[in-house]
Amino acid sequence: MPISEHVTALRPEAVRNAVAEVRARIIDARSRGGHGQDVTLVAVTKTHGPEAVDAVWDAGITDVGENRVQEADGKMAQVTVPVRWHLIGHLQRNKARHALRFALFHGLDSERLAVALHDEATRVGTTLDVLLQVNVSGEASKSGVAVPDVAITAERLLALPSLRVCGVMTMAPFDADEALLRAVFSGARAAREVVRAAGHPAEWLSMGMSGDYEIAVEEGATHVRLGTVLFGSRT
Ligand SMILES: *Cc1c(COP(=O)(O)O)cnc(C)c1O
Repeated sequence: MPISEHVTALRPEAVRNAVAEVRARIIDARSRGGHGQDVTLVAVTKTHGPEAVDAVWDAGITDVGENRVQEADGKMAQVTVPVRWHLIGHLQRNKARHALRFALFHGLDSERLAVALHDEATRVGTTLDVLLQVNVSGEASKSGVAVPDVAITAERLLALPSLRVCGVMTMAPFDADEALLRAVFSGARAAREVVRAAGHPAEWLSMGMSGDYEIAVEEGATHVRLGTVLFGSRT
């Protein structure tokens, strides 16, 4: 579907106000959590047009996230502001080369995908920054490496020097209560330590969406991925 069919009226001023509010909440959550981390707000512009990217850029946001490479490719061609593009969703192996256009790929969920990404990055002589997606909650519907497999996966990824494993990404269950959210997010934090102990430069923790980002920041998130709370609900 062309992007234009998704676009509802986007009001730059409403986006600016939302960004300000979310930033204040992130600062409060960070001081409650006590982890002292830097937090990058990744504005998730999927289903919205290039004007959504312009609106967040004007509000001081430098990072935007997309979950489909085809939609992102179209938007990248139209956007002129120099944002960093994040690929936040699942990626099929046959589309691995598309990941090279992004500053950070959040969805590394299997060794087979890692090998495909590594081959593409090696072919063009670059290094790709990735986050290992970990399925902390164990939901069958979620992608990601299971917690007990994180250590061995991290060890095997050491053999792929064209990938830089910068941390861990996770998604919480949609309807989780606070206790479960904290368990999932702190589990991701522990998984990051496992990845780091294996020898990767794993500093980052991508977790938290519109419904749960404050708890994620309290639990140490360095990247929150926010769509609805900035742009309203997707149609
Ligand atoms: C869509 C999406 C988000 C943003 O979700 P909101 O609830 O709209 O903030 C975050 N992460 C991923 C992986 C997504 O696909």
